[in-house]
Amino acid sequence: MASKKLSERKIREIEEAARHWGKLLAREAFPEGPDLSLTLADMEEVAMRAARALVGSAVETAAGEQAASFGEAADCPTCGRSVPLERRSREVTIRGGTANLEEPIGHCSTCRRDFFPSA
Ligand SMILES: [Zn+2]
Repeated sequence: MASKKLSERKIREIEEAARHWGKLLAREAFPEGPDLSLTLADMEEVAMRAARALVGSAVETAAGEQAASFGEAADCPTCGRSVPLERRSREVTIRGGTANLEEPIGHCSTCRRDFFPSA
């Protein structure tokens, strides 16, 4: 698997897609148009909750794909024996709120240690 960060161009494409999703979100939230009693703060609150959900889902999806790339077994870093990997769920705080990550963890019964496989 290639190891690289996103280019500025790709990030701008994603920002443009997110602007489009914002329009879809506004239409989903207010299908008949926002009531005149709604304030900008009300609109912002809806958008912020959706943004937090989007950030959490994006981080969970990307991290989940990383975790899956480790496969079903890994070598113990101490003795080198191949051991099966389990997945453990862990809630982490991210800038958009929280994300539930499924992390691979190995347990070597010979060395009596748990370890996280590294890339
Ligand atoms: Zn070991």
